Amino acid sequence: MAKKNIKLKWTLLATYMLIGIIPLVIMTQIALESVQGYFVEERKKELLLQANVISGHISISDYMYDESKAFVFDYDINHTSKQSGYRIMVLDRSGVVVNDSNKTEEGKTYFLPEITDALNNKDVARVMENDTVHAAVSIVDDRSNCIGVVLVCDSVTDIYENVAAIRHKIFNMIMLLMVVVVLIDLFMAWWFTNPLNKTIEVIKKMSDGHFDQRIPVNDFLHTELAELAESSNNMAEQLDRIETSRREFVSNVSHELKTPLSSIKVLSDSILIQDPETVPKEMYVEFLQDINSEVDRMTAIINDLLTLVRMNREEVELKPAFVNLSEMIGDIVRRLEPIAEKNGITLKYNMVDEVTAEVEATKISLAVSNLIENAIKYNTENGSVNVTLEADGQNAFITVADTGIGISEEDINKIFDRFYRVDKNRDRETGGTGLGLSIARSAVLMHNGSIKVSSSENEGTTFVINIPLRQK
Ligand code: ADP
Repeated sequence: MAKKNIKLKWTLLATYMLIGIIPLVIMTQIALESVQGYFVEERKKELLLQANVISGHISISDYMYDESKAFVFDYDINHTSKQSGYRIMVLDRSGVVVNDSNKTEEGKTYFLPEITDALNNKDVARVMENDTVHAAVSIVDDRSNCIGVVLVCDSVTDIYENVAAIRHKIFNMIMLLMVVVVLIDLFMAWWFTNPLNKTIEVIKKMSDGHFDQRIPVNDFLHTELAELAESSNNMAEQLDRIETSRREFVSNVSHELKTPLSSIKVLSDSILIQDPETVPKEMYVEFLQDINSEVDRMTAIINDLLTLVRMNREEVELKPAFVNLSEMIGDIVRRLEPIAEKNGITLKYNMVDEVTAEVEATKISLAVSNLIENAIKYNTENGSVNVTLEADGQNAFITVADTGIGISEEDINKIFDRFYRVDKNRDRETGGTGLGLSIARSAVLMHNGSIKVSSSENEGTTFVINIPLRQK
């Protein structure tokens, strides 16, 4: 977990660097380069201007050819150099230095490219390797002949130094900014990872089976993380519910199977302790019949359970086909009529509409059978059961109404729960498993339908199944 936090932290830091600091460094560098370039160009222009002024002055004063003016020439050059702070050299046509404000190069011959350019009447200014600018300008006589060159030199290190000082200041600021960014990043990483860690911790506990864990949503200020925490909490609640219902289911199944098993055990024990010589044969038969009916009951429970489990399996897909519901219900009613008759119940089928619907016949048939069987089972003497089939443009409605014992308001919401039976004793006689309505509801829900019940105690119960005629 700690490893992941470091990763997130560094990712955030790298992101800030990438989108913040690096472009800032590059932009500063570019800006400073162009500022430096601008000042150097300005310096070149200035030197060229100065060189031009001097060249014009030499030309007018005829310093190059008039030996008598040598002193004034010298004074002029020195004076101008002192005033401007530039080094000034004057060279003749052959590149020999005739005057140097520094007095070190006089008499020497210079073969610099800028001097050659100037002798060809092309004024140039260049930055040399030793960070000085050379501005070379030709001196022309009154017949426009090039008679020499004025070379004005000045260092540009002052410009470089100034720019370097600015750069230094900016980079110091960037360093400071980086420290601030790292601090913000650490804070942000904590800000994000802290609630994330809490969420992960709780989810881990959940995955270990502790579904009672909840993430403290109020600690989170960020909406997305709060949403994540809330969704995780909802998931935990759902898992909690599933787990509770699973436990209940297992305990119900065990209990339901234990009852007939205990009965079998009691019956077989009580017959085994008898003396076989004295026990009449009829007693054996009676006990075996009782054991047989308990086995039948267990078989019925297991069969119902298997049906229910099969229906609730997600991967089981509905295989619907067009089925004539009118005929299907007619068949069910005919099949159950003998049982109704045996119980003294009148079973009627009222087909209002001829209906064909897209259903899986076995499943809907099972649901309807369960409802009619219940209506017969939980009826009163001379009672009746009315089965009605109707349809509108979209849905089929199958109503099973009885004049039976009814269901109390307290029980009506629980009758669809697995193994729920209103009267356990009575149901043992009727052979109910408490799973019939769960199976019926699962079958109807699989068809995107609904099942509703209304009842009054001692008056009767009405179930209405509603299924769409077409499955999407
Ligand atoms: P069972 O196998 O016990 O019939 P069901 O799931 O079909 O299980 O029904 C659950 C309980 O609902 C029944 O035990 C019964 O108490 C009640 N019940 C179901 N149908 C009716 C009905 N038509 N009239 C009265 N009570 C009913």
